[in-house]
Amino acid sequence: MADKSQDQTRIFAGMVAKKQGWVVNPEAAFTDILTEGLTTNWNRYGYYLCPCRDSEGSRAADEDLICPCKYSWDDIRDSGHCYCALYFSKAFAASGKAPQGIKDRRFSPGT
Ligand code: SF4
Repeated sequence: MADKSQDQTRIFAGMVAKKQGWVVNPEAAFTDILTEGLTTNWNRYGYYLCPCRDSEGSRAADEDLICPCKYSWDDIRDSGHCYCALYFSKAFAASGKAPQGIKDRRFSPGT
């Protein structure tokens, strides 16, 4: 699989946000760290493993952690942002609030 550049990953994140009605975290320095992590993971694993989580060792085991992860919709609905805070809801972005650390739903099923 061809390597991706960080610019390609930025475009990917923008497309995900647009499609889902979310907003990419406007804090550019922070977002850069996340898109760098996603890019590294793509180039290492061949898929956009969440930059805030560790691989379980295979694509099948990581399926729920491929960005946008399975948990992002619930996290954005409940907290205004995803676990990594790469994506915000529009309302959260408009509020000007800073993202808070949230529980990883992967280890807290049903929350
Ligand atoms: S928490 Fe989910 S949506 Fe946010 S960057 Fe990680 S994989 Fe993507």
